[in-house]
Amino acid sequence: MMHFHVLTLFPEMVSQGLSESILGRAAKKGCIELETVNIRDYTENKHKKVDDYPYGGGAGMLMQAQPVYDACEAVKERIAARRAREGQAAGAEQDSLCEKPESGISRSRVIFVTPQGSVFSQQMAQELAKEEDLIFLCGHYEGIDERVLEEVVTDHVSIGDYVLTGGELPAMVMIDAISRLVPGVLKNEESAETESFQDGLLEYPQYTRPEIWHGRPVPSVLLSGDHAKVEKWRLAQSQERTGQRRPELYEAYSRKERALSWLSRDRLSHTDMLESIKRGQADVIRAEEGGVLLYDRPSGAWMISASDEDMGERLLSEIPRGEKDLLFEVHQAFLRDSIARRFHRTLVNECYQAVYTRKLPPPREARFAIRPLLEQDADTVHAHYHAVHSRDYVLARIRAGEMFGIEENGALAAFAGTHDEGSMGMLEVLPPFRRRGMGEALEAFLIARQLEKGRVPFCQIFDGNEPSLRLQRKLGLKLASGRLYWIS
Ligand code: SAM
Repeated sequence: MMHFHVLTLFPEMVSQGLSESILGRAAKKGCIELETVNIRDYTENKHKKVDDYPYGGGAGMLMQAQPVYDACEAVKERIAARRAREGQAAGAEQDSLCEKPESGISRSRVIFVTPQGSVFSQQMAQELAKEEDLIFLCGHYEGIDERVLEEVVTDHVSIGDYVLTGGELPAMVMIDAISRLVPGVLKNEESAETESFQDGLLEYPQYTRPEIWHGRPVPSVLLSGDHAKVEKWRLAQSQERTGQRRPELYEAYSRKERALSWLSRDRLSHTDMLESIKRGQADVIRAEEGGVLLYDRPSGAWMISASDEDMGERLLSEIPRGEKDLLFEVHQAFLRDSIARRFHRTLVNECYQAVYTRKLPPPREARFAIRPLLEQDADTVHAHYHAVHSRDYVLARIRAGEMFGIEENGALAAFAGTHDEGSMGMLEVLPPFRRRGMGEALEAFLIARQLEKGRVPFCQIFDGNEPSLRLQRKLGLKLASGRLYWIS
C-alpha cells in the first residue's frame, strides 16, 4: 500500500481530483491511500492567516514557515504511529527468518512541488513508487518561506518549465503517475510495463474495433494471432516512432542496447554494470564496439570497461574533470593508471567480483532471526565494519532499508547489506559470534531478497579477503576472471 499525504491550502481540490476512475478504485481496494492536510488548520494566527509579505519587498505574498512546519510534523508523527502499529501487528505473526516492518521512525520523503525542482519523469515515478509514504508540499501565492523548506524538504520536483498558480495540480500529476506503478492499481499490470518510457521507447500504435474505419484497416499482423510476430512488429514500431518523435530518447535507447550487448560478452565480469543498467539506475554515457562508460546515479560512480587503452582514453575523455568527489569503478588495470594520470585519483581498492547465477536461492537455515537494522545500529556497524565507508553512508543504507542483522542477547552480533550501486556487502560477524554460520545466513538472506526482486545477486570481495572468498564459493557464487578497481 502506498500512502500519499498532501499538504495544501486547498485540500478539496486534491481529494476531489483524485477520487474518480482508476485512482478512486485503487483507494477503495486499499492499494493507495490519500490524506489531504489543510495547512491552514495548523496556523497559530488567530485570524487563520498563513501568508505574509516577503522581506525585501516584491510582488505577492509568501506562505509562512510555522503552519507548514507544524502540518508536516503532524503528518510525520501520524506516519510513525501507523508504522509502529503495523510493526506490532506484523511482529506477532513473524516467523524466525523474515523481514520485520520498519520501526516507528518516520523517514518519509517530503517533496516540494516547485518550478525550481528537477523535472518529473517516468524514471522518477518508478523510483518514488518504491516508497511506502510520500509527503507532497504544495506552494501557493509566490511560494513558501525558504527556512522551512530547508528544514523539511528532501526533494524539489517540477512538472515542467512553466509556472502554475499552485502546487496542487503538480502534486496530482505526480500522484497519478506514481499510483499507476503501485502493484494492484492497474487491472492488468502488464499495461504499465509496456507503456511509453518504461523501456526507454515510446509505445507502439494501438487499434481497437472496428477492423476497418474510414476505409483504414487495422495492420494485418495484429489480426494474425502470431504473438511473436506481433511483438516484433510492435518493437519495430516503437523504435521507429521514438526515432521520429523523440530522437534524443532514441539515441539513449540505442546506447543502452549497444552497452548491454557488449557487456554481455562477459557477463560475470560485467554483472555490476549490467545490473546498474537493468535496474534503471545507469546513464549510459558512451557505448562502443570495445568499451562502455556508465554513470551509476545512486553511487555517483563512473563505471568503465574497455578492450584496450585507446578506447579507455576515449571513454575517460567524456568524464568532466575538476569535480571534487569523483568515484570510479573500472575493469582494467590500464584504466587505473590512466585515472591516476588524468584525474590524480590514486586511492585504489582491488576487488574480485562474485556472481550468484542460479535461479533458486541457497538453502536458508531458520536458526537465526534476521531483522532490518535501525538508525541506532549505525554506530555499531561503523565501529566494526573496517572499510572505506563513512558512518553517514552506513546510516543512509540503513534508512534505505538495505541493512540487516542478527542479534544475540539483545546486541547486534552480525550484519550485512546492499550497497547503493547494487552489490551485496558490508558483511561482518563480530568476533565472539564467528564460526556459527551467521555470515552465511545473512548472505543467503540477501541473495534470496535480490532474486525476489528479479535481480542478479553479486558482491565484490577485497583482494586478500580469503574468508569471504570461501564463503562465496560455499554459497555457490561464481568468481569472474578479471579484477575490478574502485578508485577515489
Ligand atoms: N515564485 C515561484 C517561483 O518563481 O519559483 C513560483 C510560485 S508559483 C506561482 C506557486 C506554487 O505553485 C509554487 O510554490 C509551486 O508549489 C507550484 N508550482 C507552480 N509551477 C509549478 C511547476 N511547474 N511544477 C511544480 N510546482 C509548480
